[in-house]
Amino acid sequence: MTIMKSASPSRVIENTVLPVSLTDLERAATRIEGRVVRTPLVPSPSLSVRSDQPVRLKLETRQPIGAFKLRGAMNAILSLDDAARRRGLVTASTGNHGRAVAYAARELGVPATICMSSLVPANKVEAIRSLGADIRIVGASQDDAQDEVERLVQSSSLTPIPPFDDVNVVAGQGTIGLELIEDLPDLVTVLVPLSGGGLAGGISVAVKALKPQARIIGISMERGAAMHAAIAAGKPVAVREEETLADSLGGGIGLSNRVTLALCRDLLDDVILLTEAEIAAGIRHAARDEGEVVEGAGAVGIAAILADKVKLSGPTAVIVSGSNIDPAVHRNLIGRSTR
Ligand SMILES: *Cc1c(COP(=O)(O)O)cnc(C)c1O
Repeated sequence: MTIMKSASPSRVIENTVLPVSLTDLERAATRIEGRVVRTPLVPSPSLSVRSDQPVRLKLETRQPIGAFKLRGAMNAILSLDDAARRRGLVTASTGNHGRAVAYAARELGVPATICMSSLVPANKVEAIRSLGADIRIVGASQDDAQDEVERLVQSSSLTPIPPFDDVNVVAGQGTIGLELIEDLPDLVTVLVPLSGGGLAGGISVAVKALKPQARIIGISMERGAAMHAAIAAGKPVAVREEETLADSLGGGIGLSNRVTLALCRDLLDDVILLTEAEIAAGIRHAARDEGEVVEGAGAVGIAAILADKVKLSGPTAVIVSGSNIDPAVHRNLIGRSTR
């Protein structure tokens, strides 16, 4: 079977068996109900005026860990059998996934070990430690941290909870898409932060199933956009990890990616890349005009509108994916008067 890159999204879906289904998302929604926050979709008057289209913000910043990743982690852990849970969980994380696993594990009474690279900001490390998880700092890249996970799975029989490339994790993140369609049935465009593709892939499964004409735009930073590079190459490629304001979007998609590359390749309508200055403007706008503390990764949808890098043509939902920014970095950005 050949998939024509130029075919319309709805045609591609008809001819493709996707690794995650709408049913997977619906089951996830039932499983995690009451354990994660059903987040609000609030109007943004300033972005609506600016783009001349009704723009709403999906505030995943309101999750108890300050980011959407609780949805996927909670669904993945609740999907395990008792024996696997008792042996304990392990994961690698640039921060928010680690927080999510630590929080969900504590809620469910399961031990968790979190591996992360030395590039992860100190505030994120401490946040996870304070949630009661064991922390292991290894190497200087997400790949090094992932190698440590494999070792612990082999040597201690811990159960891995992957950050994005897992059907249950994707299904959990996709519950955001179910909520979007419920709250905004005439949705036309979704702007979604893109890294490993669990968030964008999951939301796309819901939106393309329930509202096939809607467009989904993935947004990454120019510095190390792994999914963008993989879609262009037709397979996962190694990208150089660089420091960026959108640190939660850093890291590769995994060279043996099984789930999220297929979803993003087949379901995303476009991927947009942003400069650091554009991301900074998004963070500033969120603070000054929306009254929200938003981290770089969470601000890319807002930033894409401000930078005129997306053409909006109807009701638009912007996924504001997280709030966990180093307070000093945030203060510094907000203090500057440039727009
Ligand atoms: C993880 C994360 C993303 C990207 O999610 P993927 O599923 O890896 O694409 C975006 N924003 C925030 C705040 C995150 O923590």
